[in-house]
Amino acid sequence: MKKVILGLALTLAPLSAYATDTIVNCGATVDVVNQELTGPRSFTINGGRISAVDNVASTAANVIDLSTYTCLPGLIDMHVHLTSQSNPRSYIEGFTLNPADYAFRAANYANITLEAGFTTVRNLGDDGTVTRALRSAIAQGFATGPRIFTAGKSLATTGGHADPTNGHSFDLMGDPSAVSGVVNGVAEARKAVRQRYKEGADLIKITATGGVLSTAKSGQNPQFMSDELEAIISTAKDYGFKVAAHAHGAEGMKRAIKAGVSSIEHGTLMDDETRRLMKRYGTYLVPTILAGEFVAEKAKIDGYFPEIVRPKAAAIGPQLKANFAKALETGIKIAFGTDSGVSAHGDNAREFKLMVDQGMSEIDAIRAATVNAADLLGESDNLGALSVGKFADLVAVKGNPLDDISILETIDFVMKDGKIVKKSR
Ligand SMILES: [Zn+2]
Repeated sequence: MKKVILGLALTLAPLSAYATDTIVNCGATVDVVNQELTGPRSFTINGGRISAVDNVASTAANVIDLSTYTCLPGLIDMHVHLTSQSNPRSYIEGFTLNPADYAFRAANYANITLEAGFTTVRNLGDDGTVTRALRSAIAQGFATGPRIFTAGKSLATTGGHADPTNGHSFDLMGDPSAVSGVVNGVAEARKAVRQRYKEGADLIKITATGGVLSTAKSGQNPQFMSDELEAIISTAKDYGFKVAAHAHGAEGMKRAIKAGVSSIEHGTLMDDETRRLMKRYGTYLVPTILAGEFVAEKAKIDGYFPEIVRPKAAAIGPQLKANFAKALETGIKIAFGTDSGVSAHGDNAREFKLMVDQGMSEIDAIRAATVNAADLLGESDNLGALSVGKFADLVAVKGNPLDDISILETIDFVMKDGKIVKKSR
């Protein structure tokens, strides 16, 4: 009698435990940890996380059948701007749109990004409110989109890239301060970081040099003094923030790397010394080649950009490519990022081919958008691989992206947190 009860208990317990599980059968998997294409695998998902991985197809009923697909971890884009997308009216829209207008656009762009297979993004700069609200709305189920890590409003110096009043008439310029992300001196630098903490940002974004699309003459001059950078980074550490630095010119990059930023975004005009510093400090490069391609193309169109922007935009595309190739040779750590919002949202995966065309292997390009991105986010326990304990973020494609990386531009299946968000058959 006792034996029978025990037997019942043993058979019933696993059955009830499995009743809520989801099982996905993949025909093949890009294993980003072991850097290989595997045969059939089945992933068991429970509570939004992967609870088991088996090297055979599951024969259970009601499996999600991806046996004719190749599965990969959900892709991660480390540099997007979900609130906007370049168009010839972008510079006027800053005067005509309200945060609510940007919010509706952001919700749409977030959806498009998720459907393109990007289940996590890092938003590097907005007006300060919209992406934080969207992040929470997605997490709470009020909107659909990728998991968002947002920097809120970027930090710049007066007249710097991300001073929101650049190019305005003197009447409208005012004197923006730390709250709106414009800092001068150590005290304001600290205050701006603390303000981001107060607002609920996930990390800090700074503009260490001039930028292409700001209405200012230089796209590469250094725009922070070292004491300001040190104040930002040491304050950020107190609040558990990583710091991402937009930078095109070498001097601004060097100051930022030495001060301890986690990533250089773009990195366009890196010299040998900067590359050595990147290696020594373990700083990531987020290459954004796609943004360079996009602005160089649009610079050919009269009136697309203000005339002060146009020469900067025309020069940047080829330089970003060449810089990426050199960074690869040097062995600098690379995390995938597109600056989407410059280029169209949903085109994010086009960056893969641009990276491979410059000499990166297919598996390394995929690792840049999975394991490396998760590392740079400080989220390796949760993201970046299809292994037990991680969030069940999984995408699937037809064919083998290790043979043809552009396959990733057509994602057929997207799962985020164990829930199917896209399935095209
Ligand atoms: Zn950007």
